[in-house]
Amino acid sequence: MAKRDYYEVLGVDKNASEKDIKLAFRKLAKKYHPDVNKEPGAEEKFKEAQEAYAVLSDEGRRKQYNQFGHAAFENNGAGGPNGFSGFDFSDFDFSDIFDNIFDFGMGGGSFGFSSRGRSNRKTKGRDTLLEMDITFMEAALGTTKEIEITTMDTCPECNGKGGFSEHTCDECHGSGTITGRQNTIFGSFLTKTTCSKCKGQGITYDKTCSKCKGAGRIKIVKDLDVKIPEGVNTGNRIRLSKMGEASQNGGENGDLYVEFNVKKHDFYERIGNDVYLELPITITEAILGTKKDIKLLDSVVTLNVPSGTNSGDKHRIKGKGIKDVNYNSHGDFYVIINVITPKKLSREQKKLIEKLQNTDLSDKTIDKYNKFVKQ
Ligand SMILES: [Zn+2]
Ligand SMILES: [Zn+2]
Repeated sequence: MAKRDYYEVLGVDKNASEKDIKLAFRKLAKKYHPDVNKEPGAEEKFKEAQEAYAVLSDEGRRKQYNQFGHAAFENNGAGGPNGFSGFDFSDFDFSDIFDNIFDFGMGGGSFGFSSRGRSNRKTKGRDTLLEMDITFMEAALGTTKEIEITTMDTCPECNGKGGFSEHTCDECHGSGTITGRQNTIFGSFLTKTTCSKCKGQGITYDKTCSKCKGAGRIKIVKDLDVKIPEGVNTGNRIRLSKMGEASQNGGENGDLYVEFNVKKHDFYERIGNDVYLELPITITEAILGTKKDIKLLDSVVTLNVPSGTNSGDKHRIKGKGIKDVNYNSHGDFYVIINVITPKKLSREQKKLIEKLQNTDLSDKTIDKYNKFVKQ
C-alpha cells in the first residue's frame, strides 16, 4: 500500500506551525491509542500518526521530507536504516505528548504504556493494573480494604543507582548516546543510538549493587489501603497515583490502577444503579395480603403486600438503590414478589384446599381464557 502523505495523515497543511502539528497529533493519539481504542485498524492509524509526527515535528526531518517525500527515509538497499526508517523511535521522545494525555475516568484510563524516553531523560516507572474481587455490599456502600501487592521498588541499598563508585561512561563520554553517520543517496545523516554500555545513563559503576544486581530496583511486597468508592461496579477502575513500579532511571513512579470485580449477592441483583430483591411469600399471604420486612442496603423497612398479589408484582422504593459512582444520585430499590406454591401438604391442609377448590375462584382473566380455548 502506498504511504499516505504525512501532512494528510495529521490533517494539517504544508505551512502548519509546530504547535498545530503537535495539537493535531495529540488529537489523533488520544483517539487511536491502542490502550483506549481496540477497534480494528486503530493501532495502524496510531502508528501512522506517530510516524508522521516524528518526522514533521523535527525541523530537519521535515525539511528532508518536504524535499524528497517518503524517499528521504527509506533504506538505500545495502545500507540499512539511516537513523529513522524502520521506525524504531528509540531516540524519539513522545513523553511530553503522552504525559497527561489520558484524563482518567471510570472504566477508562491508560496503563501499561510507557513512552520510550530519550537517552538520559528520566522516564516514569511502569503503570500496574491490579484486579480486585469485592463483595456486592463493598461495591454498593464503598469501603477501604487493605491489599498486598508485589511491585518493583527503588533498591534501598544503592538508592536505585544499581552500583557504587560512579564514573562517566567511557563509551559515550557521559552523553548516553552513540552518534554515527549514515550515508545515503540523499546525503549523509547523523544517527543516534542509546549507549549499550551504560544503557543511556552516561554513568558506569565500579561495583555493581549485589542486592538488585545492578537493576536499581527490587521486587517488594507491600500493604496498601485501597479506598473503594461507593457505587463501583465490575470493570470500574481507580488510579492510585505513583503507586506503580519505580522508575528505572530515577524518574517518577508509575501509577497503580485497581480494577474491580464485584461478586454476586445471594439476594440482591444490580441493574444499572437499581437493586432488585425477590421476595418469597406463601399463597395465603398472596391471597390475604401481609406485611413483610424488606432488607434495604442500609436499613430495614416494612412493605405492605396487598391482598390478591401475584408472582412478578413489583414494588418500587425510590432512591434506595446504589449511589452512582460519579454523580450524587441513587438508583431505586425494587421488590419483586415470588409466590411460593407448597409442594407438600398435610392431610388437613389438603382438605382445606379441596374445600376452597369447590368454591368459585374464577375471575375475568380466567373466564376470558376459557372462552378463547373453546373458540
Ligand atoms: Zn555510555
Ligand atoms: Zn541496588
